[in-house]
Amino acid sequence: MTAQSTRSPSSHPVRTTKPYPTTLAPTAATAGAATATAGTLTSITTILAAGAPLAATASALVTVLGAVGISVAVAQSVAYLAAAGFVAFPTRAGVALKSIWTIELRFRAAYILRAAQRLQAGVNQGTALAELLRTELRYFKLHLKAQINRRRAAIEVDRIKNQTSSDLLGWKAVLDGRTTPECRAANGKNFYAQYPPAIGYPGSVHVACRCRPVKAFVGAPLVDRITSPVRVLQAA
Ligand SMILES: [Zn+2]
Repeated sequence: MTAQSTRSPSSHPVRTTKPYPTTLAPTAATAGAATATAGTLTSITTILAAGAPLAATASALVTVLGAVGISVAVAQSVAYLAAAGFVAFPTRAGVALKSIWTIELRFRAAYILRAAQRLQAGVNQGTALAELLRTELRYFKLHLKAQINRRRAAIEVDRIKNQTSSDLLGWKAVLDGRTTPECRAANGKNFYAQYPPAIGYPGSVHVACRCRPVKAFVGAPLVDRITSPVRVLQAA
């Protein structure tokens, strides 16, 4: 506890916090297989992006997950759970919603892989799959909640972008005792509607985020320049 000061001029004086309550610490299994995980995530993302009917999507996911040691029963359960809650790409989406949807494909892929690994680990330890799925459903609901929050925020960004006829928007936070460090840091800064800041769009930084997009602040720096030392948006 000495020179590790948070007051260094090169770092923003805020604490690093956990991105979303749905983010779980990586298991030993996932940490030891980073390369395999990247390939699997790419495959899952590709399957989701194809937007095939549920049965075809599930079947493709069973194959990909089977290659990383997930049983057919576990893979099918996860595929139906996750694919069923997946909303197709909105055809008349604005730039912000399009960006978020693309990011969400990766989030969903990461969720599918983690869920499959969690369930498989439980099954391997002798727990009934049905019982494990009840617990998994709680994680899935948090995942969906975060997704809905991000989409709602993106739709609002698109609305303000159209209203102000500007790609550059401002970030307005409610400043009081409940304001989180990243929202406070982003307040009064700008961002481009098409590029979600690393902490997400205003209103989706965390559950009950009260930030909102407004007209750009003249001469203000970009949100990412200010908040990048704070934290980076991670897959839920
Ligand atoms: Zn906020």
